[in-house]
Amino acid sequence: MSSRTLHTADGNVPTLSLPPGALALTDRDYEYDVEHDPANVEPIEHQIRLDFMRGGPIRRDQLLGNYNPWKYDPADPATHPWQGVKQKPLGLAYAETSCTARIHEERRFYNHVNDETVLVDAPAFLAARLRIAREDPHPERALKEERQRREKWYRELIPGPNLSQILKNSSYGSLIEKCIGPAPDADRLLEHNAFVGMVLVDEDTDPETFARDRDLDAAGVLRESALSHTQTDDPVYLVDYGIELPAPLLVGEYGSGSQYPLIPWGDALTCACPYKQMAPWRVMCKHELLASIVCSGQDSIFLPVSRGIDVPHRARRFVSPEIAVSHQSRARDYPI
Ligand SMILES: [Zn+2]
Repeated sequence: MSSRTLHTADGNVPTLSLPPGALALTDRDYEYDVEHDPANVEPIEHQIRLDFMRGGPIRRDQLLGNYNPWKYDPADPATHPWQGVKQKPLGLAYAETSCTARIHEERRFYNHVNDETVLVDAPAFLAARLRIAREDPHPERALKEERQRREKWYRELIPGPNLSQILKNSSYGSLIEKCIGPAPDADRLLEHNAFVGMVLVDEDTDPETFARDRDLDAAGVLRESALSHTQTDDPVYLVDYGIELPAPLLVGEYGSGSQYPLIPWGDALTCACPYKQMAPWRVMCKHELLASIVCSGQDSIFLPVSRGIDVPHRARRFVSPEIAVSHQSRARDYPI
């Protein structure tokens, strides 16, 4: 299953074995199975992370209170939560523009649905859906429905039920509650949240013995089952992503009390929390938003290691480098 083995400078730290789905699209060993693999990191996810990185810290007074994100209707400004004195976070304004831009960029895939040389550039999930739709007894109708579903995702589900939900006091607000300042930056955020380098081991491995045998700090070795993502009703494990244990990874320890690993996947990292894992249409969770703001303060696509053991660079890389150089963040009509 594994197709890339990564080492760290510290020879005592075990290697990180990556599955083909965690590699860059341009890597000759990249492979993604839309049927069996977990949801891919969509291009828009990379872009939205970059948008929030470029938008910078979010002010507390920009977070939402009782707003119901399911009420969001892109065509009805009365349902839009950032109005009057409440200013929309700049990162979100960028993200909305990116969503609209993707609708335009993806037009060619619907227009050339029978041309595999075009479809090969489409996001894996969309390409798979289009291949099914073109075989439908009524392909035009099937393609139209597919397109409507995809556009609804970009126009409505991402800005409304997803991003407006995590930009609430009860969501991202819970991570910055104890941080000082009206717009906590990377330094402040990392006083109450941390990205910790850890070796995650399986049930059959005793973390203390493992640490002793390898001369590692015992605090940096943990069973995967000790982390919050395995303590849910329908847990996702690293092995579901094809990541073999032991694995040196970054684990987010959050002010809200949870510990979730960041899983190398789709040329980036994806958070293992249930909010992200249980609904593939969600492109960001509050932890990934926090990671974006932290990266913004570092001016880097690599997350810093707050403490713990040395992990491979790939386990800290939050965004695809290729998308980072090509994506431009723009906001239309954003009040300065
Ligand atoms: Zn998360």
